Amino acid sequence: MFSGVFKKMISIHDDPVRYILDFDDDLLFLNQLIGKNFKIHKTGYCCLSCQENIEIFANGFCKKCFFESPMSGDWVMKPELSKAHLNIQDRDLEYEKKIQLQDHIVYLSKTSGVKVGVTRSNNKTTRWIDQGAIEAIELIEVPNRYLAGIAEVKLKNVFSDKTNWRKMLTNDIEDLNIINNREDALNILGSEFKEYFKTNSKVFKFNYYRKNQINSVKSASLKKTDTIEGRLIGIKGQYLIFEDSTVFNVRSNEGYKVDITIN
Ligand SMILES: [Zn+2]
Repeated sequence: MFSGVFKKMISIHDDPVRYILDFDDDLLFLNQLIGKNFKIHKTGYCCLSCQENIEIFANGFCKKCFFESPMSGDWVMKPELSKAHLNIQDRDLEYEKKIQLQDHIVYLSKTSGVKVGVTRSNNKTTRWIDQGAIEAIELIEVPNRYLAGIAEVKLKNVFSDKTNWRKMLTNDIEDLNIINNREDALNILGSEFKEYFKTNSKVFKFNYYRKNQINSVKSASLKKTDTIEGRLIGIKGQYLIFEDSTVFNVRSNEGYKVDITIN
């Protein structure tokens, strides 16, 4: 039995993508465990910010930390609200400067359809794997999060910024050419962003291993149930996929303390 606190899975861009679960005393190399029976049992909570055993409210944080921690400010989900480049504090200016004032990429990725997104340049591969993308291409690279957010807002008129996770998990992928989409997107960004255009139009590709296909999904979470059990048949994005079509999003169960039994 392994005991630990769920944090999002570590991924390695290999063919197929490899996943690791980082528990306090153990690293679980999950690809080797595909085919095994998993039993996940909730034993408590550990807020990712204050470490207290208090019920998780959202994103791995207890309610207090969710509303107070600089790691969960509104600019995290809405980059266009970033203000560190103006020296204006949201919750903790030092932290916000550290994260916001670094190179960011605006990209297109194919999860089921093509979506637009923003990520720190040094985090791009992780970001694409976390959303279960099979392809991704860079559009622009800008020096801070605010500019990336403004560009994303412009592109949201044409491209979705959401992953359809049901389609992503059932491999219901639209037949779209991401290179053509890139041309359209650069046209929309126009002269305002021209100096930031990435000349490299390399398509990054990702392959996720799975034993069997599933045609529908039912989502399980530790908020609703204390025990989740099933035979692991694959991993994609931040989801564990079980034989009976149950899917478990590790990232949205961050901060839950669990015992995992594998046999
Ligand atoms: Zn907390």
